[in-house]
Parts: sequence; structure tokens; C-alpha cells
Amino acid sequence: MDMRIVLIPGDGIGEEVMRSAVQVLDAVQKRRRLNFQYECALLGGCAIDAAGVPLPDETLHQCLDAEIILFGAAGGPKWDHVSPEKRPERALAKLRKEMDLFANLRPVRGRKALAPILPVKNRLIGDGIDLLIVRELTGGLYYGEPRGISTENGETRGYNTMVYTKAEVERVARTAFELAKERSGRLTSIDKANMLETSRLWRETTTQLADEYPDVKLDHLLIDAAALSLISHPSRFDVLVTGNIFGDILSDEAGALAGSLGMLPSASFGSGRGALYEPVHGTAPDIAGQDKANPIAMILSAAMMLRRSFGLRAEARAIEEAVDQALEDGYRTIDIAQKGMKTCGTQEMTDAILQRM
Ligand code: NAD
Repeated sequence: MDMRIVLIPGDGIGEEVMRSAVQVLDAVQKRRRLNFQYECALLGGCAIDAAGVPLPDETLHQCLDAEIILFGAAGGPKWDHVSPEKRPERALAKLRKEMDLFANLRPVRGRKALAPILPVKNRLIGDGIDLLIVRELTGGLYYGEPRGISTENGETRGYNTMVYTKAEVERVARTAFELAKERSGRLTSIDKANMLETSRLWRETTTQLADEYPDVKLDHLLIDAAALSLISHPSRFDVLVTGNIFGDILSDEAGALAGSLGMLPSASFGSGRGALYEPVHGTAPDIAGQDKANPIAMILSAAMMLRRSFGLRAEARAIEEAVDQALEDGYRTIDIAQKGMKTCGTQEMTDAILQRM
């Protein structure tokens, strides 16, 4: 099997947590005698420094060619002053668009071991929170045209356009139905159908698609009610599917249920083999270069890659169980530590996970 992987560490803690993920992947390939072919590429601030642009053509071609990408994070104060079209975040948005990665999967687990630092009450956590957010990633308000800021008759206005085609809704909803089938068979579609035409189309399309998935129970929720339920009654959800802006906000809210941004992995898919795996967090300039970053989100992103792109289910499970075990054995980076608890650094957490694999 082709096991080419483009590694893009990016900036700040991106480089540190990527080192951890590669150590974990190396342990898997040694044990299973696999042969991952790593290729390194630049994206973000480091690419601006080296090549003058945040997404060099070479990186884009490497990604389109190899198809499987493991990414750290990009950006930081050093590049805050660059013009908007050159910002590191734009590079990532362009890469997702060029690869047509329309479905972003964000699994959220609230582990019992971390219950003391979670914002929800113990009784709501039960045996643990386990849900999956599927966010549409290449359409909606963030990409719709026209957009801009203009002045007419002395009045300046800013405007954006929320637009979805039926085909765009259908393809991401299909991904969510398939995932719900793999899990508990429950899918909640989230929209604002009482106010927005795009949401009415969203609801109509997901409802029609449900006929093709008799073993999935679909329900609908308005975004405002969903935001409340997520924090007040998280076990109500299993798989959630929603548009770009609603998914952006809900998945950060759900991040609180996992204890820290450093615990949240993600994966983005299109209709072909192409996939991008990355932690949800950014470059954390406040702790970069200090061996303080939590490597778990990055390591779990690598586990998602093994499962979904290479079919290595047992290996992915072994990594996830090793993470759970390290947490149960009391290893804590600063972002997930209770007050007064002993903390460990990035490398110590990585070693604890490696030992338990
Ligand atoms: P951030 O996610 O980098 O950090 C937010 C807070 O969470 C910080 O206090 C940070 O220390 C902490 N944190 C994040 N990840 C952590 C980890 N793995 N372990 C321990 N603590 C962690 O978000 P921000 O501060 O808003 O952004 C910083 C930079 O990252 C900005 O330049 C932003 O544009 C960029 N960014 C990039 C991505 C991406 O590349 N996908 C995503 C978000 C932000």
C-alpha cells in the first residue's frame, strides 16, 4: 500500500507536537514492519520566511500528489503584520479548498480521568462524553460571494454571503450518515431553519437523504438550542452535522468538554483519497519552545490517519488506549492539570504514551 505522508509541522508548538506524532508513528511502523514514506513540507510563517509566501507551490503540489497530510499548526505574532492574503491561516484555507476537503471530523471525548477540570458537572459526564462533530468546511458564509467592505452614499458597510448548493449539503450529510451508521446510528443536523433560507435547504436535503439510511435516526436542532444542549446535556448527542460557521463555533465549545484544545484531534476529507489530519489547536506562542505543549491532540490526529487512510484500526486503537492509560496513570501537561498536580512536559507525555502502546 502507498504510505506516503506529507508532514507539515508549521510554526510554534506545531513543530514540537509533530515530533511526538512521528515518534508514535515510528513505533507503529517498527512493530508492524511498515514503511511510512515521510516527506516534509513548509506552510505558514516558516514558509513566509523561507519562500516569501505562506503556501509555496511546491508544498501544494506535494500535498495534491501524496494526498495524505499530517499538519501541526501555523501562524504567530511574528507574522501578524503581513497583508491579509498572505496570512498563514489563509494558506491552510487555500490548501483545504484546493484539495476539496469539504468534511471536517472533530471527535470530542470528555474522559472521566479529566473530570475535575471539565466545566460540566460530574453527573453529566457519566461514563465519559463521546461525540463526533462533522463540519462542512469549504462552503457557507466563509467562502460565499459577494463579500467585502464598501462605501456608498457616505455609508460604509461590511457584507458576506451565506450560500450552499444542494450538492454541497448532500455530500457532507452523506459523510455524516455513514459515520453515524458506524457508531450508534444517531445523527443530529444543526441549522437555523427558522431564520435562514440556506438552513431551510440544509434541513430539506438532510431529511430527504435520511430515506436512504433507515438504520440512522436523524433529528434536527436549531443552532442556538444546540449550543445550550451541548454544554447542559452532552450525552444527548452522538454524531452532529452542520455548516461551516456553526461547526466552527460549536466545535470550539465542545472543546471545553474535552478539557483543553490540546486534547482535540481532527481530520478533513473530500470525495477522493485526499485527507488532512491536524490538531484543532493553534501554534500557542505563549508556550512554544518550552516543552510545555500537550502532544495528545496531534498524536490522536495521527491515530485517525492510521485508521481512516491506511486501514490500520488495531494500531489506531492501541495509540488511543495508550493515551487513555497515560491519563489514568496521572500524566498531565499544564493545560490539563488540576491545581497543585505534578505536571510533565511534551516529551515526558510522549514517552508515557509510547511505553503504554
Ligand atoms: P492557540 O490554540 O494557539 O492557543 C490558545 C490557548 O490554548 C493558549 O493559551 C495555548 O497555550 C493553549 N494551547 C493550545 N494548544 C495547546 C497544547 N497543545 N498544549 C497546551 N496548551 C495549548 O490559539 P491562539 O492563541 O488563538 O492562536 C495562536 C496562533 O495560532 C495564531 O497565530 C493563530 O492564527 C494560530 N492558529 C492556527 C491554527 C491552525 O494552524 N490550524 C488554529 C488556531 C490558531
